[in-house]
Amino acid sequence: MGVSVTVLASGSRGNSTMVSSSRTKILVDAGISCRETVKRMRAAGDDPRRLSAIVITHEHSDHVSGLTVLAKRFQLPVFMTGATHQAWARAQRDGAGELPQLAGLEIFSSGRRFQVGDIEITPFTIPHDAVDPVGLTFRADGIKVGIATDLGYTPPNVCHELRACDVLVIESNHDLEMLRVGPYPWSVKQRVGSPTGHLSNEKLAKFLCTEYDGNASYLVLAHLSELNNHPEIARGTAEKALGPRQTLLHNRVMLAQQSEPMGAIQL
Ligand SMILES: [Zn+2]
Ligand SMILES: [Zn+2]
Repeated sequence: MGVSVTVLASGSRGNSTMVSSSRTKILVDAGISCRETVKRMRAAGDDPRRLSAIVITHEHSDHVSGLTVLAKRFQLPVFMTGATHQAWARAQRDGAGELPQLAGLEIFSSGRRFQVGDIEITPFTIPHDAVDPVGLTFRADGIKVGIATDLGYTPPNVCHELRACDVLVIESNHDLEMLRVGPYPWSVKQRVGSPTGHLSNEKLAKFLCTEYDGNASYLVLAHLSELNNHPEIARGTAEKALGPRQTLLHNRVMLAQQSEPMGAIQL
């Protein structure tokens, strides 16, 4: 077995993705409840007791809401940046009145590689309105997986880190016109569409046309807005941008979903 990627949940109501090698199983973000994470892992044919660690991208609740319970129940080390940990702890304390404890907290810094089992992880800074948000790449068995959601645009460092991925999980949050005419209040529309908000279908298409190297076997469109996007619009926009680079072996486009796990991608 090489490397596999399973998106358990994706969207503003919770995000969680498994990246596994033959020896190591990492949960990226814990934005659905412990119970739901366990249920979805089992549905995907996985055993939650085999998890090695949780890695957190940023402190927004759709990425951490299941964290405390999940880490405690399965006694998992939790990797996040120092600033993200502080922001997370502050938010927890404000909600519950006491300082939350993570028994196995491991601090990493953006730009500094670290290792969990046989998976090498590179965190890199992304533009988003959290204290220290990161995208991540994972390398094991000669395979590279990239995950970049919750970013307002794709600056040069992000484009650089996402080169040569075999699987690329990337945000396709909203359709610009649907956001414009949609139900959000003006201030929220401004936030979502800002350079530290979320990546639109159109901005993803521009990335795919101008910066993306076309290398991936699978492109997973993620963090789709349920109100301001439609899966087939997101897919159509990405496929048009990929053009003839989409073949039987390259750039197969998949859609990560909010309510159910996506089938595992195996490489
Ligand atoms: Zn999010
Ligand atoms: Zn976020």
